Amino acid sequence: MAHAAIEVRGVTKAFGVQPDWVVALDDVSVEIRQNEFFTLLGPSGCGKTTLLRLIAGFDHPTQGTILLAGQDISFLPPYRRPVNTVFQNYALFPHMTVAGNIAFGLEMLGKPKAEVARTVDAMLKLVRMEALKDRQTSQLSGGQQQRVALARALAPHPQVLLLDEPLSALDLKLRKEMQLELKRLQHETGITFIFVTHDQEEALTMSDRIAVMNEGRILQVGTPRDIYEHPAERFVANFIGDTNLIEVDVLAISGGRARLRLPSGAEAEADLPDGYAGNGRATAVVRPEHARLVAAEGGSPLAGDIENVVYFGTDTHYHVRLERGGAFTVRMQNARGGAEAFSTGERVGIEIAPGAIQVLRD
Ligand code: ATP
Repeated sequence: MAHAAIEVRGVTKAFGVQPDWVVALDDVSVEIRQNEFFTLLGPSGCGKTTLLRLIAGFDHPTQGTILLAGQDISFLPPYRRPVNTVFQNYALFPHMTVAGNIAFGLEMLGKPKAEVARTVDAMLKLVRMEALKDRQTSQLSGGQQQRVALARALAPHPQVLLLDEPLSALDLKLRKEMQLELKRLQHETGITFIFVTHDQEEALTMSDRIAVMNEGRILQVGTPRDIYEHPAERFVANFIGDTNLIEVDVLAISGGRARLRLPSGAEAEADLPDGYAGNGRATAVVRPEHARLVAAEGGSPLAGDIENVVYFGTDTHYHVRLERGGAFTVRMQNARGGAEAFSTGERVGIEIAPGAIQVLRD
């Protein structure tokens, strides 16, 4: 079997000295596959940048190992690793031209002139900056600087490219454009990308797989769909997308699925997270678009009163106060020319789509 592009094994990183140290990473293990667009997603301070810096070699683990294509690189200096980084602030050389910036790293590696020129041209083409080849980088827009930074990092053809919130300085429209551009670059070069962001939407739209981090730990790794539809923990469910949490009784478990009793007394089937070891009470997740409102008399599994109706163009959000306590949001698609089917103050039932209930581990 091919080696993982990067394997992080039991890595802990602490700063300072005991007992006042800060544990930035706490026994983190993860495998990032070859040619993958892999995202580290989590709130500020969760340890994303620290993990990236350990992979780049700017810092070293307190405990554990980091392998690149099967080789232990934990203590190798950055310049000996086939890894490159694109920083948030681009870190371009302002007095050099676009071409000069891209060529710089290749010249440092002692590549022959003709090869440098060929690679610079190929990179300019890749990031669609041929026309600005001789421009000083200080005279470029944010988006153009970002492209140069990418071209410069890709030029030596690293095995792994690390990207630390590279789009955060761009305005929303440019950011969306560069998201697509990054996907294209990853696809065309076949280089493994490890991308850091705290923006859940960015992670969902760009990644092959996502690791959700909090407080120095990786809580869950999966495809965007896995993470969104099958969050294993409360933090993951809340951090990604809108979430309804309901308290349930687990009545029976078999083959990774559970039979539940909902707050109304109705029973339903649900998915269980890997390694679920709970008993009796649990919290379950239902995404707002996996439920719909129906007339109150239908004997539906949940019922309540509509508190609020918010029109969003493509869909409408209904905030329902449940009769047994708690709130529940339902998101329904709008038909063109239609009217809101339900209004504030109305008593309604809530139907949950089959297979849409996910039990949480905690
Ligand atoms: P952000 O999105 O804000 O950049 P992050 O998820 O990248 O956050 P890190 O920068 O990895 O988080 O920081 C993780 C924790 O480690 C934080 O509590 C931070 O204060 C701490 N930390 C990071 N670097 C150092 C350092 N050199 N010395 C001491 N503490 C540090």
